[in-house]
Amino acid sequence: MDCLFCKIVSGEIPARKVFEDEVAIAFHDIHPQAPVHLLILPRKHVASLAQMGGTDEDKILLGHLLDSVIRIAVEQRLANGYRTVINTGKAGGQTVDHLHLHLLGGRAMEWPPG
Ligand code: 5GP
Ligand code: ZN
Repeated sequence: MDCLFCKIVSGEIPARKVFEDEVAIAFHDIHPQAPVHLLILPRKHVASLAQMGGTDEDKILLGHLLDSVIRIAVEQRLANGYRTVINTGKAGGQTVDHLHLHLLGGRAMEWPPG
């Protein structure tokens, strides 16, 4: 499968990793939109949030990803707050078809998003 993030998971393409466990990895976004801009994703390939089917396995995976965000935010000293984003599908702004969460922090965020 020709998936950029699967290649980062396997180590074929390098990335600046900040966290990894048996289920998920996190690394710096190559085009950061904030002083801290990390991507958190499952090791296993899932195309997008829309492909998560509501099984117990999916629920555990989604919970694990959010739990990872919380722990990484503490490690990154984002106690003042941060934003977590999941772009889903073309209209949602998703450009890499491997489920991932953006963790953005280190500056004040604006709303509404673009
Ligand atoms: P999306 O637009 O799908 O929500 O987010 C994809 C993100 O992946 C973008 O923020 C983009 O900058 C980032 N990205 C694209 N290619 C690479 C890469 O090769 N390495 C890293 N670390 N990030 C990438
Ligand atoms: Zn993938």
